[in-house]
Amino acid sequence: MEISRRELFRFAGGGASALGGLAAAGVSLAPAAARAQELRIATARVTPSVCPFCSVGCATLVHTVNGQIVNIEGDPRSPHNEGTLCPKGAATFQLHVNPNRPTQVLHRAPGATEWEVWDLERAMDRVAELVKQTRDETFIERLQNGKLVNATTAVFSLGGATLDIEWNHLQQKLMRGLGIIAIENQARI
Ligand code: SF4
Repeated sequence: MEISRRELFRFAGGGASALGGLAAAGVSLAPAAARAQELRIATARVTPSVCPFCSVGCATLVHTVNGQIVNIEGDPRSPHNEGTLCPKGAATFQLHVNPNRPTQVLHRAPGATEWEVWDLERAMDRVAELVKQTRDETFIERLQNGKLVNATTAVFSLGGATLDIEWNHLQQKLMRGLGIIAIENQARI
């Protein structure tokens, strides 16, 4: 059917209602939907994966073309998420492909108003230096009652839910080895 510009704007009054309006007007969206589905998967390689954001561990399908991720969606074969993802999981694509993400180490000294670009080695050295210094300055070997604790409460470790098991294992070893006892993970908050 023919649709005038005015009618198109009326149908497109908002998101889903636009599609509903077009469908109600007798416009079949099936060919376009089928074509979009076909285009998305036509040349893509599909790799099963797991959403990294929380312990639910929803199964995902990662579509790649020439080694580049082009889409991530829920895996309908999964018995627990059955193809669905929450808004966080549905945005996993942006975890990998995001042109707005800073790609340099930015450092702003205390009191400074401008960011400086540091190379990664320098930034890592500075973090290690401050952790060591703070730990040494605040380390408590024994409590007043003589109880051995070998701890510092001056350093706090907050992990992200996107950290994997191997990373968290090493993080625990490092933090416990330094005597850090305040260890938390964003996924539990
Ligand atoms: S963040 Fe959402 S999509 Fe990801 S595992 Fe958790 S519930 Fe599933």
